[in-house]
Formats: sequence, C-alpha cells, structure tokens
Amino acid sequence: GKPFPSPAPFTASPLNMKYNPVIGLEIHVELATQSKMFCGCAASHFNVEPNTHTCPVCLGLPGALPVPNKKAVDWTIMLGLALDCQINPESKFDRKNYFYPDLPKGYQISQYDEPLCLEGELALKNGRVIRVRRVHLEEDTAKLIHEKDGSLIDFNRSGVPLVEVVTEPDFANIEEVDEFLKRLQLIIRYLGISRADMEKGSMRLEPNISVRKETETKLPDYKVEVKNINSFRFARKAVEYEIKRQTGLLEKGEKPEQETRGWNSDKNQTVLQRGKEEAQDYRYFPEPDIPPMVLDEILVRQLRDQIPELPNQKAQRFIKDYHLSLYQADLLANDKNIADYFEDCLTFKVKQSITPGIVANWLINKPVNIKSLTPE
Ligand code: ADP
Ligand code: MG
Ligand code: ZN
Repeated sequence: GKPFPSPAPFTASPLNMKYNPVIGLEIHVELATQSKMFCGCAASHFNVEPNTHTCPVCLGLPGALPVPNKKAVDWTIMLGLALDCQINPESKFDRKNYFYPDLPKGYQISQYDEPLCLEGELALKNGRVIRVRRVHLEEDTAKLIHEKDGSLIDFNRSGVPLVEVVTEPDFANIEEVDEFLKRLQLIIRYLGISRADMEKGSMRLEPNISVRKETETKLPDYKVEVKNINSFRFARKAVEYEIKRQTGLLEKGEKPEQETRGWNSDKNQTVLQRGKEEAQDYRYFPEPDIPPMVLDEILVRQLRDQIPELPNQKAQRFIKDYHLSLYQADLLANDKNIADYFEDCLTFKVKQSITPGIVANWLINKPVNIKSLTPE
C-alpha cells in the first residue's frame, strides 16, 4: 500500500487555521393520506392527469373554508413521537403570506409558533445526538411546469399534507447528514405515513450551512440555505460545495454572506437565489378559519400505541434474539419487508443447523458456506 504521508508541521499561522462546518436541516415530506390537508380531494398527484384533483379550497377560491385532515395531524404526531419529541398540548395553524404563482391563496397554511411537535432527537451510529427542533404540518403548493413558451400550473399537488422536520444545527459533517436523512426516511417508511421518495419529490431537503474556525464554539452569525434538493447525492454535493466555497472566502479574509442558494446539477454548484436584503417577511398570523387544536394525553397515548417497532429497535432485537451481527441486523432492518420475510423464514425451521445467521446471510446476499448446511 501507500506509505503514510508525514504529518504537516504544526504552525500557528492563520493560513493553517482549520475550519469546521455547522449544518442544520429542514426536511419536507408529503404524507400519503387519501385526501388533501384541508379538503376532500384525492391527495395522489404523481402520474395523474393535471388539475383533476381540485376544488374551491385547494384552488384558493374566495370564501372556501379549510377543514383539517385528522389523519395528517395524527401521522405528524406519530412521526414526532418516533423522533422523541414533546407533543405540544395546544397547537394551531398560521398563515404564511407570500406571493408566488404556485400558491393560489397568496398564503400557505402552516404552523409558526405552536408546532405539533417540539424538541426531539435522533442518535447517530457514532453516538452523537442530533436535536430535532420541531415537526410541524403544512400544505404543499401547486406544481409549476416550465415549458418553452411559458409555465403551466398543476393544482393536483396544491393542499397535499406536508410535514416539515427542522433540526438544530448539530451536524458536523456530510456523513452525519447522510445518515440522519436515511434514518429519517426509514422511520417514515416504517410508520407507513409516506414513501418519502426523493425522486418523486415526496421528500425534499434544505440544508443550512455555515463554517467556523475549529477553535470557535459560538454559532456563526450567518447561514446559507440551499433550497429544495431532491436527491441524497445532490444534498451531499451541495453541502460539500458550500463548505469549500465558504471556507475559501474565510481563508481569503472575507466573510460569507447570509443568503439562499439553489443547487444547479448541470454546473455542479450552488447558485445565489436571494441575498439577506431580499429576505422575506412572511407576516405570519393565526389562521382564523381553523380553531386551535388541543392534544390531550389520551390521544397522544393512543397514537404512541400505534407506532410499530422502529428500525433501530428491530435491529437491536435481531442482535439479541438471533445473535446476528450489527452489520447483518442493520441490513435486514433497512427494509421492513425483508426484515419481516427474515422472521417468516425462521418460523419454518427446516433444519437445526440452519441458524438465523445463515438465513440472514442468505437474505442479504452473502455467500453461504455450503458445509454448514449439511444435514445433521
Ligand atoms: P430562520 O429563522 O432563518 O429560519 P432558524 O434559526 O430557524 O433560521 O434555522 C433554520 C435552519 O437553519 C435550522 O435547520 C437550523 O438548524 C439551521 N441553522 C441555524 N443557524 C445555523 C448556522 N449558523 N449554520 C448552519 N445552520 C444553521
Ligand atoms: Mg427555511
Ligand atoms: Zn380540493
């Protein structure tokens, strides 16, 4: 192999100053409810004839009244519980006002200061814990389709229930971000509340990135938000690009600006969308057409009881009950169907010598040692 490079000599020169990234995530997930968030229209919109799932509510016509989807509220609370959140005993919807062609009402019904779920966490393999600031419920916007001569609008997506998970800026590198996102996606799939497919846009990411000196402990007083990323690979590239870009600025003695950027997958770089001066004021105020929600302990307990065994618990149980390795257990738990199939296979018990470990290896496609299968 290659010889070890000799370590760089230590100097206190600012040129050798190391910088560390600080990363926080905002994640949107469309819930797989039958109907939309505030009306009875079908929520399905992928491969559907455009503008066929619409009504006065999700078209934003004057006088139409929203009625919240109970299932979407329940499922958001279940996701919050799966992330060890506190459930807010009193929650409400708010109007987030802004103008954009995909938003027919001129405001999005979202949650501002009283989200359904607060203060959760998710532990990573390296033992570090990522704090979840909040999990709230809102509605998706319509979909713009840009063509040569103009843009078309499909309102089938307008009003589809959308959950937003916001973390604290606790990630120290892209590996942690990647693990968190994949774990979150798996938890959502286990809960059965969404397929959370990135390529279909049912899970979308906004990483926030800043960079600080290695020795600094305070959060930087700026952050760069990268909007609407629709693949794990792009998330990785965008974060890596921003870390390099911002570190480069700091090394030149410049200060990165607070701004919103987008990922350009053709150019392989982030591009400026909005500077600090153009930051929007959403003029949030309570949604007057929907009464506040009171979430009592009985309801929360009922929802807690509906939470299935989650991926981590399943993997731990496989290790304990079937003496699998962490590697085997994780691979099986990574897909609920395969994990269930694994346990179904075990109930057959063809031969004593076919241990759970052998079945696990067979399922995760590792070569099976034929000798170990010889009959007793
Ligand atoms: P805003 O009020 O501008 O939305 P928040 O403080 O609410 O900002 O944070 C939004 C997202 O940005 C969260 O995911 C949070 O973790 C992340 N974030 C906040 N400060 C920083 C920072 N200095 N560097 C990176 N991410 C940050
Ligand atoms: Mg944001
Ligand atoms: Zn509708």
